[in-house]
Amino acid sequence: MNRLHDKACILIVDDDEIMVEILSANLKQDYKIITTGSGSGALECAARYRPDLILLDIGLPDITGHEVCRALKNSDNTRDIPVIFTTARDTDEDELIGLNLGARDYFTKPYMVKLILARIAIQIDLKLKTDLLENLANLDGLTGISNRRNFDIQLDQEWRRGRRNDTELSLCMMDVDYFKQYNDNYGHAQGDRCLKIIASILNSQTKRAGDFVARYGGEEFVVILPSRTLAEAKQFAEMLRQAVIDKNIPHKHSKSSSRITMSFGIATVIPSGTIDPQDLLTAADKELYNAKESGRNRISSIQL
Ligand code: GH3
Ligand code: MG
Ligand code: MG
Repeated sequence: MNRLHDKACILIVDDDEIMVEILSANLKQDYKIITTGSGSGALECAARYRPDLILLDIGLPDITGHEVCRALKNSDNTRDIPVIFTTARDTDEDELIGLNLGARDYFTKPYMVKLILARIAIQIDLKLKTDLLENLANLDGLTGISNRRNFDIQLDQEWRRGRRNDTELSLCMMDVDYFKQYNDNYGHAQGDRCLKIIASILNSQTKRAGDFVARYGGEEFVVILPSRTLAEAKQFAEMLRQAVIDKNIPHKHSKSSSRITMSFGIATVIPSGTIDPQDLLTAADKELYNAKESGRNRISSIQL
């Protein structure tokens, strides 16, 4: 999310409409506000909008705020959203239960609005900084797509999923053809621009849930294609190969074409205990080498 243009988002969960109104009125100038009066509504809104902070009442009409918090912390999708309990229960034990459930703070009603606004601002500031750090750790600085570190984590996850479900996993490695000549003739800055364009092509074409694209390093990219057979992965790579050609980026010094092209190496496997993710990577890389050796601007593949 681009924070220069979008406000941070706060979900207010409270069945007391007056409370919701007071909070909304004080927060809406600085934040985007979503409200709900029930626990089930809270879980639904949290999963759908992934707010930056949740203000969570404990006494709700359906399930308690404590149960809501537990459910949020148990889901990968909502675990990282900070929660602040807002409640009339004010014993130390109540507060301790809330904090032990993973809440960041605990506001006791009735509260002094200015004080809680300041504490909300602290939590939002922390959340935005955490998001920024996470992006720095997971995204490639030049192209903005996932980096190799993120790819390694994702490949491991998909490998385990494939093993559990006994389904195929395809990996496609890609490399720009004659990119050294491109840099040498058009300059490094233009080379960077070209890599950004390629990343955005790959990213926009990788739409299916679970598909994952990353910059592997230099002018090399990689796509994880879960639950795809070799034939399906080849079809997908062919679509990417054509999309790069269709972008029509001139490359007078390439020996395979007058424009930028890429070579592709695919390996497909049903993950098992006798082989590991590194073997899949090595196989895809070997196929990429074959594609280069046999003329570039083409796809080479293997079923393991
Ligand atoms: P091949 O067709 O066999 O892949 O040849 P190639 O010239 O593309 O491959 P080679 O590995 O010889 O050269 C890769 C070039 O990619 C060299 C390097 O300067 C360039 N490169 C790697 N990372 C970046 C980058 O971030 N920006 C720019 N502009 N160039 C980069
Ligand atoms: Mg290359
Ligand atoms: Mg290379």
